[in-house]
Amino acid sequence: MKRLPNYSLLWVSFIVFLCTGCNPASQLSVSSPDGNLCLHVETENGKLYYELSRNGKPILDKSRLGFILKEDTLAGHLEITEALHHSFSGTWEQIWGEDRIVENNYHEMTIRVQKTSAPKRKFNVVFRLFNDGFGFRYEFPEQEALKDFVIMDELTEFALTGDHKAWSIPYEAHFYEALYEASPVSKLGWVSTPLTMETNDGLFLSIHEANLTDYAAMNLIPKEGSITLKANLTPWSTGEKVFMKAPGVTPWRTMIVAENAGDLLLSRLMLNLNEPCRIQDTSWIQPGRYIGIWWTYHMHKHTWHTGPRHGATTANALRHIDFAARHGFQGVLIEGWNKGWDTYHFNFTEPYPDFDLKQITDYAASKGVTLIGHHETDGWVSDYENQLEAAFNLYKDHGVQIVKTGYVGKLLDGKERHSQFGVRHYRKVIELAADKHIMIDNHEPVMPTGLQRTFPNLMTQEGVRGQEWDAWDKDGGNPPVHTTIIPFTRGLAGPMDFTPGTFRFENPVLPQTRVQTTLAKQLALSVVLYSPLQMASDEIENYERNPEPFSFITTCPTTWEQTIVPEAKIGEYVTIARKERGNSGRWFIGSITNEQPREMQLPLSFLDKGKRYKAVIYRDGDKADYRTNPYPVIIEEQEVTGESTLQIAQAPGGGTGIILTVLSSSGA
Ligand code: CA
Repeated sequence: MKRLPNYSLLWVSFIVFLCTGCNPASQLSVSSPDGNLCLHVETENGKLYYELSRNGKPILDKSRLGFILKEDTLAGHLEITEALHHSFSGTWEQIWGEDRIVENNYHEMTIRVQKTSAPKRKFNVVFRLFNDGFGFRYEFPEQEALKDFVIMDELTEFALTGDHKAWSIPYEAHFYEALYEASPVSKLGWVSTPLTMETNDGLFLSIHEANLTDYAAMNLIPKEGSITLKANLTPWSTGEKVFMKAPGVTPWRTMIVAENAGDLLLSRLMLNLNEPCRIQDTSWIQPGRYIGIWWTYHMHKHTWHTGPRHGATTANALRHIDFAARHGFQGVLIEGWNKGWDTYHFNFTEPYPDFDLKQITDYAASKGVTLIGHHETDGWVSDYENQLEAAFNLYKDHGVQIVKTGYVGKLLDGKERHSQFGVRHYRKVIELAADKHIMIDNHEPVMPTGLQRTFPNLMTQEGVRGQEWDAWDKDGGNPPVHTTIIPFTRGLAGPMDFTPGTFRFENPVLPQTRVQTTLAKQLALSVVLYSPLQMASDEIENYERNPEPFSFITTCPTTWEQTIVPEAKIGEYVTIARKERGNSGRWFIGSITNEQPREMQLPLSFLDKGKRYKAVIYRDGDKADYRTNPYPVIIEEQEVTGESTLQIAQAPGGGTGIILTVLSSSGA
């Protein structure tokens, strides 16, 4: 017999090449619809891995998949039994959002995996590749040897291929209300997602999750000081991570891959990985703006509890309803209306005696305004769940269409808000509210994951260090850089109830702490920070004193036909342009800078060709500075077309708001 050592060597290396690289022709690989991203799965020594490349360049090295269950380990002795491929292309419409039409195009690969040893427990991994990133989730199919089981650890990894710059908040941050810090991945501790990174090649990556429904939230931690990030699920107080049933699925693990920072904001893959809307009649779900009896509590003018300075009195409520009606606000939030603020054990059906719920809601209805109800729970989840049905019924009977929920403090049932316990609670509230036709604005939430696609009554959530920190943060308030980072981090998880729109920055309670922006930047933030319910945070007297700048806020919609990001640099500046829904053709632009002044150069090439527009520009006054002279706003008009470039100076800590209205179609 002839020996052909050379040929067999060649053959061996060919096989090795096929197995370690991403090959779109391989059954174990899947590419994005545009072919740029390629994801490959394989087993090595019985362990399961995936890897990702973009145009042949690795983005994720071999990254582990699998679980430690209480009943078994699904970590080694694994084999792939089948790979199934499928693709989908379609669009769907958002009831409210940053865009009306969302494209949903992906290639999908399902990998069936089983243990090689009896009883051969099985799971699947479903990968979906989009042009702007990917998601995958585990499925546990129905099987004899796996019914009810407990996940002690999820082994999912993201083996990064560089020590990227990452913007993160620590996992321990209360309610995710922390300033994002930039650091190399290798220096990260245990962090929350979304975790946004910039690579040396100038790519932007953001890891998060989608459709967190009955599972623990995913946090990330670098493995032994490396640049491999491992999923770290929030445990129950007893140590278990997740109680599961087969058949069942995990949330999707997601990564956005973008060529520039602005494109991160345009990715809708998190929403695409959630289930379609489950509410049949959505006509009662209405985005809008609201004001509140709120900032005066922070300024110690009023108290939440009853007494001589009680904020939630009938007279004060009626005054705010009048203001809301006069300025076209949808709702008035009134905190401190119910019994319990003295003890922090709340009764959600008993108003304080000086708050006449019926008179107030009847008056609001006569003015076309809704009362925004308030349920502060202080984290007493079981107490709240016991009252929930009655509490929503009371509001429903009084025509209250929006409820702000709050969970200051730990969930006092001894569990973390981002554990499966917390996730189940928040979900229960959203679903019951949907039944009662109530929209929810949830404060101190679990990090959002796109559930508003399925339950669009989940309007907005906090989970961000919002403007309230400018009232009582001992370190001085939110630095100007903060709002140039959060659109690219927390903002990728969904709408933020940041509550911009403060017009008076001095703080009599804590003189060292104040709003660290110019007034023009407060206006710009109502476009930059997306929320379908957007609160104008200040007390109404401060708006009455500044009617011209206030007109920007009262004109600005909270749901959009289309969003684009003409320029963005995380931590420095961002400009966002949004087109109003309907036939007006109006665009609203918000542009902000950090503590550095800058000259915005904005080509208006996104405007319709051949049309002339009136640009009303709300810009920083010439000597404006967030430290010394924050209030001057200049409002001026210009005629522009798609060929114009706006050149506008922004002050330190400043910003610009612009409204573009169609004047006429010229020429033709
Ligand atoms: Ca808060």
